[in-house]
Amino acid sequence: MKQVDTLIVGFGLAGLAYAETLKLQGHSFHVIDQAQAGSSVIAAGIYNPTVLKRFNMTWQGEALHTAALPFYSAIEERLSKQFIFPHPIIKLFAQTAEHNQWMVASDRSGLSSYLDPKIYNNSILGVKAPLGYAKVKHCGRLDTTALIQAYKNCISAHLTTSSFEYSKLNITPSYLTYGEIKAKHLVFCEGYAMINNPYFKDVPLVGSKGQILIIDAPELKLETILKGPIFIAPLGGDKYWAGASFEQQDKSLNITAEGAKWIKDKIERMIDVPYTIEKQITHIRPTVKDRRPLLGTHKKYKNLHLFNGMGSRGVLTAPTAASWLFKHINGQEALPKEVNINRFEKKD
Ligand SMILES: Cc1cc2nc3c(=O)[nH]c(=O)nc-3n(C[C@H](O)[C@H](O)[C@H](O)COP(=O)(O)OP(=O)(O)OC[C@H]3O[C@@H](n4cnc5c(N)ncnc54)[C@H](O)[C@@H]3O)c2cc1C
Repeated sequence: MKQVDTLIVGFGLAGLAYAETLKLQGHSFHVIDQAQAGSSVIAAGIYNPTVLKRFNMTWQGEALHTAALPFYSAIEERLSKQFIFPHPIIKLFAQTAEHNQWMVASDRSGLSSYLDPKIYNNSILGVKAPLGYAKVKHCGRLDTTALIQAYKNCISAHLTTSSFEYSKLNITPSYLTYGEIKAKHLVFCEGYAMINNPYFKDVPLVGSKGQILIIDAPELKLETILKGPIFIAPLGGDKYWAGASFEQQDKSLNITAEGAKWIKDKIERMIDVPYTIEKQITHIRPTVKDRRPLLGTHKKYKNLHLFNGMGSRGVLTAPTAASWLFKHINGQEALPKEVNINRFEKKD
């Protein structure tokens, strides 16, 4: 029997952030992750603490951003591989009225460190910007696919690639066992697949499907991320990530012709150089109605915990969420009430 402090189920950004937090705190862990890629692997990995549709900051944006970058760069250093690719975001204006809104927003505390107040009118090769554009600083892309794969390689002795079977879990008040693993705690980091978890079936995970295109555009020499009706982000070479749709009804993992058409239409409003589609992919973001993480402990089984609800901002949110959950599980600090799953429990 292998004995560890924590069994982690699921290894996307949430599972990785929790594993890294345990490692930094000297706690042992074992990971079970199925071969099917989660939403972390198709994400653009853009980190940006501002909301460019509404010209404001995301919830806890500054604090999450401050914690996330050193967290990932420490992993880069340890694994001797680059995962963070800083790129300014170019916000393409859709109406001239946005110029004034931008300048007002760029003067507001918090936003002022990210929004460059200048409105640019000069052209960018291959980009359609008839109403000008502005820049968001201190943003970029985390190569989530490479990070997760490299981390998995590094913990291969502590990783089982298989689907977790809930019926094989035995829980006692002081420990739990799953096959040959004995652990004090189990943290479920399953992304949208949490909807199949019988232990947390009452936690309201909504889920929003996102379809994306990977395109080849040899004449587009972008070193920045474009934000218009969608994001177009450079992946290196001539490849770009373009998306994503935000679909609330369809929760399947099927790509659709309508999804591809919707993205192509947006791409053609943003660039005027030829491109070819290399592939179309989709996954479900683990979104929550109140747009806050889902962290906490099962009401009856005190050694079962949940790490979910990373929404569409998993890159920035996961490191801080991992730290909150670790402190909660280890009795060091209560979870912020906005993220605790007990906010959904019926009050008697
Ligand atoms: C199209 C799209 C674009 C996005 N772009 C961005 C972006 O630019 N920036 C950003 O910050 N966020 C982005 N996101 C959101 C981001 O992907 C999520 O917030 C984050 O990846 C969620 O991570 P997670 O670890 O909770 O879930 P996941 O990444 O889905 O990982 C869950 C893991 O658990 C495994 N698993 C599930 N159930 C089981 C089981 N029973 N047994 C074993 N393993 C299991 C899955 O196989 C998977 O590996 C995007 C999402 C989508 C869909």
